[in-house]
Amino acid sequence: MSSALEAVKALASGFATTFKHLFRKPITEEYPEYKRTLPVRSRARIVLTRDPDGGERCVACYLCSAVCPVSCISMQSAEREDGRRYAAWFRINFARCIYCGLCEEACPTSAIQLSPFFETCERDILKLVYEKEDLLVSHQGKDREYNFYKYAGVVTEVGGKGEHIKEDRPVDIKSNMP
Ligand code: SF4
Ligand code: SF4
Repeated sequence: MSSALEAVKALASGFATTFKHLFRKPITEEYPEYKRTLPVRSRARIVLTRDPDGGERCVACYLCSAVCPVSCISMQSAEREDGRRYAAWFRINFARCIYCGLCEEACPTSAIQLSPFFETCERDILKLVYEKEDLLVSHQGKDREYNFYKYAGVVTEVGGKGEHIKEDRPVDIKSNMP
């Protein structure tokens, strides 16, 4: 009996909610005339960002590519004369991307970031294959301060190994041997 009463109560509450919304003024946002501003953490078009000093953040470590569940990121690593790595080419196939954000999570340099810009649809599917020149932007995205090479354990103009911010001195691996 009590379960029947609860069922009636649940039904009545459902109908009450429907009834209440019958008299509410509808809110219709006409897209594309009206474009809602999405939160900065929205997951849409991917960009490759730069360090605050303007350098490319990506060090072509392949972590984003390895973690991507649909294998839509590919690249080729290269090295500058000073030892700094970069992506000779970098490609994302947005026709496959599911905007899960795992690449952004995996990236140690904060290079790859998802942006709120979602208007990327194309009739020609091949236009959804973005190359490095389409992905690389001139700003830092959401992470304005981070500069991987100031923490990365490599010699820079800021200092030698172990001399950067919050960086430990290099460990002598032979000291760990039995
Ligand atoms: S958002 Fe997800 S699916 Fe898209 S490139 Fe990144 S890891 Fe791959
Ligand atoms: S975008 Fe980030 S995770 Fe991907 S290769 Fe470059 S540095 Fe590595």
